[in-house]
Amino acid sequence: MQECKADKAIYRKNYLAYPWHVKQLDLRFVIAAEATVVFAEMAFEWSEDVGGAREIVLNGSDLELVSLSLNDRVLTENDYVIEGESLTIHDAPRTSVLKTEVHIHPAANTALEGLYLSGDFLLTQCEAQGFRKITWFPDRPDVMTTYRVTLEADKTLFPVLLSNGNEVGSGEADGGRHWVCWHDPFPKPSYLFALVAGELALVEDHFTTRSGRDVALRIYVEEENLDRCDHAMESLINAMKWDEDRFDLEYDLDVYHIIATNDFNMGAMENKSLNIFNSKYVLARPDTATDVDYQGIEGVIGHEYFHNWTGNRVTCQDWFQLTLKEGLTVFRDEEFSADMQSRAVKRIQTVRDLRLRQFPEDDGPMAHAIRPDRYVEINNFYTATVYQKGATIIRMYHTLLGESGFQKGMKLYFERHDGQAVSCDDFLAAMADANDTNLDDFAHWYSQSGTPQVHVTDHYDAESREYTLTLAQSTPATHDQPHKRPLVLPFALGLLSADGTELPLQLKGEAPGAAGTRLLIADKEQQTYTFVSVSSKPVPSLFRDFSAPVKVFYAYSAQQLATLIEHDSDAFVRWDAAQRMAENAILTQCGRYAEGQDMQLDVALLQAFRGILSDEKADPALLAEAITLPDEDYLADQMDVVDVDGIHAARQFIRQGLAVELKTLFDKQYLSMNDAAAYEKTPAAMARRSLKNICLSYLLETEAGESLAVAQLDASDNMTDTLAAIRGLVFINSPLAAKALAEFESSWYGDPLVMDKWFIMQAIKPGSETVNTVRALMSHSVFSIRNPNKVRALIGVFAMLNPTGFHAADGSGYKFHADRVIELDPLNPQMAARMASAFNRWKRYDDDRKTLMQAELQRISSLDKLSGDVAEIVNNALR
Ligand SMILES: [Zn+2]
Repeated sequence: MQECKADKAIYRKNYLAYPWHVKQLDLRFVIAAEATVVFAEMAFEWSEDVGGAREIVLNGSDLELVSLSLNDRVLTENDYVIEGESLTIHDAPRTSVLKTEVHIHPAANTALEGLYLSGDFLLTQCEAQGFRKITWFPDRPDVMTTYRVTLEADKTLFPVLLSNGNEVGSGEADGGRHWVCWHDPFPKPSYLFALVAGELALVEDHFTTRSGRDVALRIYVEEENLDRCDHAMESLINAMKWDEDRFDLEYDLDVYHIIATNDFNMGAMENKSLNIFNSKYVLARPDTATDVDYQGIEGVIGHEYFHNWTGNRVTCQDWFQLTLKEGLTVFRDEEFSADMQSRAVKRIQTVRDLRLRQFPEDDGPMAHAIRPDRYVEINNFYTATVYQKGATIIRMYHTLLGESGFQKGMKLYFERHDGQAVSCDDFLAAMADANDTNLDDFAHWYSQSGTPQVHVTDHYDAESREYTLTLAQSTPATHDQPHKRPLVLPFALGLLSADGTELPLQLKGEAPGAAGTRLLIADKEQQTYTFVSVSSKPVPSLFRDFSAPVKVFYAYSAQQLATLIEHDSDAFVRWDAAQRMAENAILTQCGRYAEGQDMQLDVALLQAFRGILSDEKADPALLAEAITLPDEDYLADQMDVVDVDGIHAARQFIRQGLAVELKTLFDKQYLSMNDAAAYEKTPAAMARRSLKNICLSYLLETEAGESLAVAQLDASDNMTDTLAAIRGLVFINSPLAAKALAEFESSWYGDPLVMDKWFIMQAIKPGSETVNTVRALMSHSVFSIRNPNKVRALIGVFAMLNPTGFHAADGSGYKFHADRVIELDPLNPQMAARMASAFNRWKRYDDDRKTLMQAELQRISSLDKLSGDVAEIVNNALR
């Protein structure tokens, strides 16, 4: 079969190793914002073992090629072929030194890939394929070489000149210019290259590694942000120490640099020794950043640091293996946060996020395995599937092999592959070999897309005291894979008696076992377990700690859920049972709403919430999670045809009912959490604020709420409390909201990160009117469609987190959003594609909304000069 010409897809099966070894890359940049000159010298050596035609293929995009020479012979256009993004030189000698000079234009670069301008300084973003916008080079992760980089620039405009590795020279040049030379001794792929040039202030600290290396830690920010780096620095030091203690991994250079920028498409980037961060994940002061921001900074600083081993020292053979570094590193940062904060709370937040963001991907037009088989634009595959689901798959290795088995596998992985670009198969082989076990069946998690469903049925025989539990697993077909196979599921099970006592788990034919969690392996379409000596009909506690990323179906009675909520020893199961109960209650009322019947407050849910709120010994952060109702988007996923208005009305009805009925308890918890103590950033203080503010959100559904919020706002010494109060006033449509927003705006007008929060508070307000607010805010002097954080805060939040706004019945939200995608596409295709994905699930809505969304998708798709990024998303959605 011939692939059609329009299909620009790249396939995993077509991977071929690069036939050259690049021994060294020398780069010299003559830096200026308008036009930067890049000289490159690369030493190629033919790899006999790979073979093939002796041609050198380089990648480049938007480069002005000034000169190209091979072994000091200047090449003319007859000596090479440029086609699309590749330049090919035929019949190159076995040892070839290529020299190029190109001109690039950072100030005109709005896509924020390659070298670009942020405020007054220049910086780079090369992952995945930004290096080809800097110079001609084999821009693929399996070409690793050492870099020597000389940066030359005007000394006044660009006093700070940074690149990867250690500084090995510097000096003055004519005309008020200076230069700095950097050398990175570790071979790396081009996506890890970075440079920064400009006027930046710095905060410095030190870390001494276990083996005695003194590492200078420097965070570079704009002058006015110098007092907001403490938490990032502390997180970095904690991460370095944690990686030594838990993974036996030390840092390997003398410097570690972090740069904060307001203009960044992603969260942060792990370039070797020169991390570049979205300022959102660096800058924090109690009055400017919330507790969630503080936790986010700790997690992302850790994540990028951990990449130094899982990503940089051992990298990916090709981009299909992205999860090799990302799934593993997300798992590592989750564990770091769990060790720093509360393990149970971190686990709950991780699962909520996975269900909210990754499960819908599996059920949508872009469904893909964590290691996809094809892509058109790799930027579209930096997904929750590759990252978050990838991390749960690493966690399953950990569950199956235990901490020591897992660490043995990691050790072997580094022993075998340090300094190499490898594949997910290599990781699996290291885990299997180190533990002398076979993981061939487990490998299907890498190639199968979709969320497995596990239907659980059970039977208790009082006479024989036998309890049988049957698991039936299946994965619904996805657009990319019609047929699925059973997967290896670690199945952590507990059994509770009706009064909540943990029962022993003794499988038929076994000696009596202990009570508590039992890890079973479910790897068949159907599997039955028979437990003996079970004294009474048990309540099954299924997939404890979310031991596999599956949807679990079991017909729990309200009474059984109540038992789990009150007694289960597993914090995740307790939370999950409360979520199930709330979900059942809301969806039942949603049905009544659709039929025009009066809604009713669920008695079991009321009783459960009363129990949870009365528990004075529990961790406040866990209580806060337990009384947080499922998100509207999550509820939407549970319906065959999404009823946007019904879900919102039913969820609101339940919130209000709970607030009124349990006002005394909400009040009591609010008051006991609302101590007068000054702000602290300890996990305990954060936990208290989280419970306090969720209680406030319920109390705002009662008459007393408004004055509580105003009092909290007046007394607040931190952004968490301030934001909770204002958001609450906005949400209930309080006449005081406008004043609170105006005061917030005038206090923080000059602060880009805090102003993002101001945009979010308004974009997230439910209701069909919000589209007008959002449209008006686009003309606010602080808003810029060129700035990704602003786009996310206003446009992204509206489309992705405001269902009743985005899905307004008249289609105004859709039209507004499609206009933004069209406006963004020529400026920043990567951001435009992210925004376009808001339409991905259009087929799940009612006919009127489907028609409206389809029309907008077609309008985008029919544009003349659509980027490959957006075309892939939109055409997949329309297919
Ligand atoms: Zn990462």
